[in-house]
Amino acid sequence: MTELLIRNGTVYVPAGPRKADVLVSDGVVTKVEPGLALTAEGTEVDARGKYVLPGAVDVHVHSRDPGFPEKEDFGTLTAAAAAGGVTVVLDMPNTVPAVDSAGVLESKSALARSKAHVDFGLWGLIRSSTTPEQLESMAEAGAIGFKAYLAYSFSLSRKQVLYSPGDDDPDLEPPADYGTLSRLAPVVARLGLPLAIHAEDPTILTAFRRPVLTYTDLLDSRPPDAEAVAISAAAAVARDAGANLHVAHLSSAVGLKAAEDAIRAGTALTLETCPQFLLLTADDFDRVGTAMKMLPPVRTAADRAALVDGLKRGVIGMVSTDHAPHTDEEKSLSFEEVPAGSPGVQTLYLSCLQLAKDLGDVWLAPQWVSRAPAEFAGLEESKGCIAPGFDADLVIVDPKMRTRVRPEDMRSRQRHGALNDHEFDFAIDEVYLRGEPVTRGGKPRGRMVRPALVAR
Ligand SMILES: [Zn+2]
Repeated sequence: MTELLIRNGTVYVPAGPRKADVLVSDGVVTKVEPGLALTAEGTEVDARGKYVLPGAVDVHVHSRDPGFPEKEDFGTLTAAAAAGGVTVVLDMPNTVPAVDSAGVLESKSALARSKAHVDFGLWGLIRSSTTPEQLESMAEAGAIGFKAYLAYSFSLSRKQVLYSPGDDDPDLEPPADYGTLSRLAPVVARLGLPLAIHAEDPTILTAFRRPVLTYTDLLDSRPPDAEAVAISAAAAVARDAGANLHVAHLSSAVGLKAAEDAIRAGTALTLETCPQFLLLTADDFDRVGTAMKMLPPVRTAADRAALVDGLKRGVIGMVSTDHAPHTDEEKSLSFEEVPAGSPGVQTLYLSCLQLAKDLGDVWLAPQWVSRAPAEFAGLEESKGCIAPGFDADLVIVDPKMRTRVRPEDMRSRQRHGALNDHEFDFAIDEVYLRGEPVTRGGKPRGRMVRPALVAR
């Protein structure tokens, strides 16, 4: 039996912060109270003056693995996650081949296990052709939930989710639409898993399609109405079916309004937003450059203010990253050619600690990035909390050290990032996955997490 004792820190427990020691035995928290001592062979760490927080659960990342190892893979993704205090990543299903069946999910899980430095969960894909049986077998294989990309077709030859509106190509299966959701939401509801959507209405995107040469073109091509309409329509479907609708990367004030209306009307709806929408506005583009080309786009100061307010009021429960690297070379092409998406997982916790501090309550951060996402993902019995019986996924944060985000410190395969040069009033000291330090790499120890299902 190996123990770990973290002494004298300010520990974030379910009831709030308190001065305590944390005793860990074989990767599991056994005691959280003052004045503890090791009872067996082990390591003692002094966390005086520091915070001891539960590891973050990032519900929205893109490992690019399998498919695009030159952009990222499970090793580099999870090394970046570990360095930033993210101890569980939930990977989106648009890797190649896309995760549209239990077989693909199982082979992706085996691949990820061989490389992962933190624990991981896998989302399954909803295609317009997906059957109830496919959803059931993916749930059986451990899918964390299902995601439908409303405006994105599916390449049958490449087994890949693609943004290609209006293309008349026999190789492209039409996107999952509200009909697909209506057909499959009762199945997802029965399985007790979240039904996640990429919330942009395709007809609105088609109506506003244009050459995207500038940041203004990008904003004009992805109007916030597209988000609001998609949320309202999907919410009507989910409410009727009794499904839990999850809106990925909420980016706009009108999208938030649509979601609040849907919640008031009785929809079980969860929201995630991302640091880029909470810390940046379109005005930052001139300074940041193409690393800020992401979809949905970072919008106006009014959108940012609405999202921060939604988070403060608790309507938006979670902050995820939508970590989506492309190569640094791809991100240095002309604006029109630059693919959308950038890394972000390593700065999730620091971003949220800063935002929470600026809102007057630093302890909101572990709620947004750890507790709420762990509950959302069905991991509430093992993750998201520092208490006896929980995995010892722990983050020691120094509130007296500052961090400046520097490309050379990023552990992703890529160096670009929308928050480069950002400064935070905190530094990540050490991160533990099930009781063992992971900030400096080492042997991959990540395991697949599976939701504890009530409905099955
Ligand atoms: Zn995404």
